[in-house]
Amino acid sequence: MVQLDLLSSLETHHDLLKSYEKELLELEDKLKLKELVKRIKVNEAKLEKIKLIRDETKKKLKSCNSMLAEYNYKIEEVDKNLYNGSTTDVKQLEYLSREKDRLKELVGNKETEILSLMDEMELIDKEILQIEEFLQKYKEKITIQRKKYRLLEQKIKNKIEEERQEILTIEDNMSKGLLEKYYTIKKIKGSGISIPQNGVCNRCYMVIPMMLLDRLNKGELVYCENCGRILCKQD
Ligand SMILES: [Zn+2]
Repeated sequence: MVQLDLLSSLETHHDLLKSYEKELLELEDKLKLKELVKRIKVNEAKLEKIKLIRDETKKKLKSCNSMLAEYNYKIEEVDKNLYNGSTTDVKQLEYLSREKDRLKELVGNKETEILSLMDEMELIDKEILQIEEFLQKYKEKITIQRKKYRLLEQKIKNKIEEERQEILTIEDNMSKGLLEKYYTIKKIKGSGISIPQNGVCNRCYMVIPMMLLDRLNKGELVYCENCGRILCKQD
């Protein structure tokens, strides 16, 4: 019976359609590239934090440098007073000398602080560069991966369209009554037909009586007595 062959083919195309639709859903989920996007977000946040630290360090460095300049200027002033002969008072000279020592110590401390801040800046810049390189690399990876997925997505969408067309063509050639029966069973059970294997329903695995198999072989419309699916012959 040609109608039953068409029915069997219809179910095959429905199964294919379903598997392509499932594939498409999975691909759309993959397309989000959750893991990569998450890693990028984490690193972007890290970068932002480090940039703030860099700004802070820069500010500190600037302030240290201006303090250093101030101390050096003060030392010059003290030197002028010490050596230009305008100060002759011994106590005053002693005071100036002590002041110069104090300022020199401050200069030394500031210079040490500046050096350590510069080391810090160097490390920070290095880390920023590393993160920026990582981000660039991963963003490129995402672009490439997404392109690949888009191509795949188009292929699956084409297949889905082909299956839908095929299903419509088959339906056009089938009797309305049989289609209605088929879709009623399919709606309830997920599949509408069964192709017996060695006398057993390949859906519910119950033995099919010989009498029914004979009628099937004669091309009659028969149903599995257990699950109610329409029986079809193997191609
Ligand atoms: Zn069955």
